[in-house]
Amino acid sequence: MSDIAVASTPFEPGSAAPEGTIPLCVPEIHGNEWKYVKECLDSNWVSSAGPFVNRFERAVADYVKTRYAVATVNGTAALHVALLVAGIQPNDEVLVPALTFVAPVNAVRYAGAWPVFIDAEPDYWQMDPRKVADFLAKECRWSGKLINKSTGRQVKAILPVHILGHPVDMEPIIEVARRFELTVIEDATESLGARYQGQCVGRLGDLACFSFNGNKIITTGGGGMITTESSTLAERARYLTTQAKDNPVEYVHNEIGYNYRLTNVQAAIGCAQMEVLDEYVARKREILSKYREAFRGLRGIKTQAEAPGCLSICWLSTITIDASQPGPDSRQFMKHLAEQGIQSRPLWHPIATLPPYRDCQSYQVEVAQVLYRDALSLPSSVGLTEADQARVIDVVQAYAQSDLMEARV
Ligand SMILES: *Cc1c(COP(=O)(O)O)cnc(C)c1O
Repeated sequence: MSDIAVASTPFEPGSAAPEGTIPLCVPEIHGNEWKYVKECLDSNWVSSAGPFVNRFERAVADYVKTRYAVATVNGTAALHVALLVAGIQPNDEVLVPALTFVAPVNAVRYAGAWPVFIDAEPDYWQMDPRKVADFLAKECRWSGKLINKSTGRQVKAILPVHILGHPVDMEPIIEVARRFELTVIEDATESLGARYQGQCVGRLGDLACFSFNGNKIITTGGGGMITTESSTLAERARYLTTQAKDNPVEYVHNEIGYNYRLTNVQAAIGCAQMEVLDEYVARKREILSKYREAFRGLRGIKTQAEAPGCLSICWLSTITIDASQPGPDSRQFMKHLAEQGIQSRPLWHPIATLPPYRDCQSYQVEVAQVLYRDALSLPSSVGLTEADQARVIDVVQAYAQSDLMEARV
């Protein structure tokens, strides 16, 4: 159990940064959003049927290059339904990364299944494929199905999360999944537009999920999407997200469904946002590369790297501040930046140490702990001005080079 306290800052992380300060990541809306939303309102198509829902699904499917896309009310609902259509049942197990936002892990529990936490790799901070393979080979036994030796439960799926806009090394994960007949569900919620060996994330596993929450690269206010090549899985996702209607006239529902569909108004915003996605990706990449250039050579500070063969969308520009070296640590940096009117934020608390997940299995989790201690995300909005980024850079450089003894006090 980690006892790192949550630092108090003038910003409540997650809430809006006050006027005159530089926020971590805010949406950018300057295209056809108004026009398309007005079309919805003028035409009375405001709910979960309407032309923009289909158009948005088509736009995402075409971009990612999957055959099917099913819009959902948010990314968490997309994950929940993806797990259900993958056949995940109560008491099954799903491999998840130790370092991620909590939503995919919660989704595993919504399906009644249990997470097994796998460490991050140290270079790009993604789920470690070597540890995935080791866990499956050494900790499980195969008898027509894969059984976790220590829990006796069946392992059914791997749920890699492309964190911070950077792809997971999927090839070895898919290979080991094929070997043990596991389903692969990508959590691509932070990474729409990222490429792995030239292919978009979202078409690498059996199913993938996206989010259009306000802090993601593009937004619909709230929204999500499931992508897949399988017509069977897509149809089933559509069925479960629309209340499992078997006969909509006679109200026949042969299964328990969900009201998880995206509305036409939200989809309208999404259609406009998809038009500028590539522009946003380019801007995010430019922001990270500027930070990387500016912080090169600063003692103890590293900027997230990009793996060969990968294109990261650099969702949140994130640095690590090595707490085992002299000088301020990540939480002192966060506090100092906040005092200068700059919002920053650590990565996620290791989920396996949180109350709902304390009794779940973790496999060799070490790197994720260090990243939780050391990582800090810096302002990364698509609309971040050059002047504001220069200010962030100045403050970081000055603080990193300030009197080390004094900074430690
Ligand atoms: C944002 C996010 C989600 C959930 O998306 P919502 O649309 O907010 O429900 C899931 N997984 C990860 C890794 C995320 O960052």
